[in-house]
Amino acid sequence: MSTQKIWLSSPHTSGRELKYLHEALDSNLIAPLGPNVTQFENEMAAFTGVKHASALSSGTAAIHLALIMLGVKSGDEVIASSFTFSATVNPIRYLDATPVLVDSEADTWNMCPVELEKAVKDRISKGKTPKAIVVVHLYGMPANMDAILDVAARYNIPVIEDAAEALGSEYKGKRMGSFGLMGILSFNGNKIITTSGGGALLSDNDEFISRSRFLATQARDAAPHYQHSVIGYNYRMSNVVAAIGRGQAEVLLERIQKRRENFFFYLEHLSGLPGVSFQIEPDESYFSNHWLTTMVIDPALSGGKTREGLRIALEALNIETRPLWKPMHLQPVFSECPAYVNGVSDRLFENGICLPSSSNITDEERDFVVASVKQFFSK
Ligand SMILES: *Cc1c(COP(=O)(O)O)cnc(C)c1O
Repeated sequence: MSTQKIWLSSPHTSGRELKYLHEALDSNLIAPLGPNVTQFENEMAAFTGVKHASALSSGTAAIHLALIMLGVKSGDEVIASSFTFSATVNPIRYLDATPVLVDSEADTWNMCPVELEKAVKDRISKGKTPKAIVVVHLYGMPANMDAILDVAARYNIPVIEDAAEALGSEYKGKRMGSFGLMGILSFNGNKIITTSGGGALLSDNDEFISRSRFLATQARDAAPHYQHSVIGYNYRMSNVVAAIGRGQAEVLLERIQKRRENFFFYLEHLSGLPGVSFQIEPDESYFSNHWLTTMVIDPALSGGKTREGLRIALEALNIETRPLWKPMHLQPVFSECPAYVNGVSDRLFENGICLPSSSNITDEERDFVVASVKQFFSK
């Protein structure tokens, strides 16, 4: 039995953060602007293969600004993946617009292109052309981008990619966040790299990026005094926080490799258990960073073993796990939103569990998780 808690997804310092933090402190640049912000933006843009990045206070802020720049207003409708974290959908409500929730496909667990087209047609028939499609790459798995971009193009609806969990994941050799008109990243404490809290907006379009920087710094007009013509936000990333990001960015490829190793380790040792399956890359078009390793237990095939039974058994051993995201169409706060559902995310939520997936998990801890899961199934 381990005495130290085994975390689901812990922050992981590289040791390189201090150098950049010292620079920031020594130069007195403890401000929301500074060289670390610009450098970190350039690094994230280069890494994801987009022209520009705008560093922000969170991924949620990035989605909010992306929707504003697409002109989303009160009474508009915006399509979003239903199987996600609430941060994908909340910013739609900040603008008093209505989320239209679209269920997942079984292959990727992400937005189902068939349900998406159904939703688009149905909304158009009701006189409401959706203003945007927010597509999520959950747990690092890329969505089926060819099919989704095809629907979006045929109905001329812009795509925002929520790549908060998918930094470094690829679809057909291209990194996530670079497919939509805009993409967003998160550097929250549980993500693959972290600034403690932070996010970024990605785009090839310089106007979106300069607009993002403008809106994120209280929308100050060019004047010697403080003058404002539109509503602004305090959403910029600070130079101190960006220093941590630079230290983290140096080890991003190692972090991705380690998260993927975690996945393949669990897959190798646990996929033989009855009723157990994993979130697998459907074919070679997909490369997941495997931010979290997620496992599904089908109770019809597992001899009565359930996700919840496993979660409680592991908790008693000081192993942190979590059910998969509860889909937005099942959330009380979004219960009134139109939803196009097919049962896929309901089943995943019911039967799925996230296993400890930190990049600083030790071999002993991982062995202990595997042994504990096997023991639960053997009882
Ligand atoms: C973490 C996350 C976000 C939000 O990022 P924050 O930086 O925490 O605001 C958005 N979408 C998804 C899918 C996430 O996992």
